[in-house]
Amino acid sequence: MIQNNYFSKNDDILFHFNNLIDWKEIVSSYEGDFEDAKLYKEKGLEAYAMAPNNLEEALEYYKSLLESLGELVGMEISPIVKEMDEIGLKYDNGKVIFPKLMEEAIQKINQAGLLPYSISRQHGGLGIPVIVQTIMSEIVSRADGALGITLGCMNLAETVEKFGSTEMVEEYVPKMAAGELCGAMALTEPNYGSDLPNIQTKAVKDKDGNWKLTGTKRFITHGCGFGNIPSIILTLARTGSPTSGARGLSFFLVKSQDVHIAAIEKKMGLHLSPTCEVVYENSPGILIGNEGYGLVKYSMAMMNTARLNIAAQAMGIAQAAYEEARKYASEREQFGKTIQNIPAVNKMLKFMDREISGMRSVLYEASRSIDLYLWRAEKLKHKGIEEKEIKKDEQIRRWEKLASLFTPVTKYYITEVANKIAYDALQIHGGSGYTEDYDIAKIYRDVRITNIYEGTTQLQVVGAIGGIISGMSSSGAVRNYLEEEANKISVSGEWSKLYKILQEIIQNYTNTKDAFFKDSIAFEVVESFARVWIGLLMERNANIAQGSARESLKVLSVDYNKESLAILSSNLVRVAA
Ligand SMILES: Cc1cc2nc3c(=O)[nH]c(=O)nc-3n(C[C@H](O)[C@H](O)[C@H](O)COP(=O)(O)OP(=O)(O)OC[C@H]3O[C@@H](n4cnc5c(N)ncnc54)[C@H](O)[C@@H]3O)c2cc1C
Repeated sequence: MIQNNYFSKNDDILFHFNNLIDWKEIVSSYEGDFEDAKLYKEKGLEAYAMAPNNLEEALEYYKSLLESLGELVGMEISPIVKEMDEIGLKYDNGKVIFPKLMEEAIQKINQAGLLPYSISRQHGGLGIPVIVQTIMSEIVSRADGALGITLGCMNLAETVEKFGSTEMVEEYVPKMAAGELCGAMALTEPNYGSDLPNIQTKAVKDKDGNWKLTGTKRFITHGCGFGNIPSIILTLARTGSPTSGARGLSFFLVKSQDVHIAAIEKKMGLHLSPTCEVVYENSPGILIGNEGYGLVKYSMAMMNTARLNIAAQAMGIAQAAYEEARKYASEREQFGKTIQNIPAVNKMLKFMDREISGMRSVLYEASRSIDLYLWRAEKLKHKGIEEKEIKKDEQIRRWEKLASLFTPVTKYYITEVANKIAYDALQIHGGSGYTEDYDIAKIYRDVRITNIYEGTTQLQVVGAIGGIISGMSSSGAVRNYLEEEANKISVSGEWSKLYKILQEIIQNYTNTKDAFFKDSIAFEVVESFARVWIGLLMERNANIAQGSARESLKVLSVDYNKESLAILSSNLVRVAA
């Protein structure tokens, strides 16, 4: 792997951090009136010691975290990932054995104080907004996708923090923040993957009022814990009748010590990520929240966070692929010149450069949309305001609606394009790419899962289509957002043309009567929306930038929108009945 500081030597991330992200609105949403810093001054509570007093301090804090993480994973961990991946995992009679190097790598991240990125400072976490969490996740995954997932699992405490009882939060969350507990989410079963409303793992209350779970979950990442660190397995199980659908599902915390790990999968990639078959046999579970809300509320919230995390994982892997391709193309000579100067190869590199810029813009915009509603809602909740009142808050309503659309669109787009980037990066390596002599083979294997787990691309389309159709109605939130953002800059004629075609595509989709055909063209609608949204963000970037940066960003946005014009024009033909 190419070694350098994965934060401070990545010009695109730095440019976003220094110039494009509107930190004022994000820090204001996260810190409010900097109450945590005041708490530290007044009461000296250690947990709040790192709370910033103002915007500048917040930015300094985020930057120092990202620089430390970038240095650690880019310089110390990236050189050993190939060896760790080759050693892989071993399964021995219910126990999973991790390479020592991997345990040491996670320990280093923990010792550097960088592990609990999604946990609040109140419970021992870093206390940072989603957009900074996203950048951290992306940086780690550039070194190794499996490592990114391990850290994600160790941060699953966030769900317990949000929905668990006070006792549950106090018992488990600080341990997770300290790296003494791992997490796992157990939704999938052998017969039910995308079809989660029908899962059949059963939870029954015994005569003493304690819940016991029985059933088998498949493909559960870190269901086994991590080395000697056990997991809390957040499990979706049926408390209603077998045919009670989504409303019959509840959410439980189960300890990994109380289940049996029957096997781990032998996989194409992510060789350091344990994908476990988990057997529950009257395993004790603690109910999280209320019965009947397991899927519709708690799992959905957990999955939305995880989906953004997978988008960040794919972003990091795509960056790794691009860097490897760029390096190879600058060294390999054919026909008397380096292959980067051959038009067909150069075209692939340009595609990657442009897409990476667009993917990162959309990843950070989706993160922003969560930051702009979540923390405000949490603050109101802590003040004791009822949920139905919180839901009436205009800012929360607007950004929550947008975030619920932006998350599936971002997950679909980034993971699909990351696959294409890894494909092209391997192609640029020629026959060498197909060998294990270069890192691209591992990258290619690792990225393949990103558009499958946490909901396949097809399921992200199912999750996004309704939000696009209602959001693009005459007074819809998405239309308002797009037009408001477009009005802030002077958008190009190309973008206006794209926006018009998008509306025609939506109109055709809405007019379609044949339900089967309608479902089959949902992808074209979501793809068209994604490209219009990203094209706008790229024009916004160019508009904010100055000097030569503006010129190069402009070139990227012009090329991106030109490509979009070709795609949307053909989508318009495809959606016609
Ligand atoms: C490495 C790995 C790690 C994983 N980690 C976890 C984990 O930690 N926890 C967990 O709970 N699960 C985990 N999973 C499971 C993963 O989320 C599922 O594999 C995924 O959601 C797809 O389910 P499935 O494999 O059963 O495919 P299926 O649901 O059988 O889908 C097969 C195909 O049909 C399509 N399809 C199905 N239904 C629809 C529909 N309504 N509309 C359009 N297309 C549809 C799908 O898109 C797909 O192309 C993991 C899987 C892997 C491989």
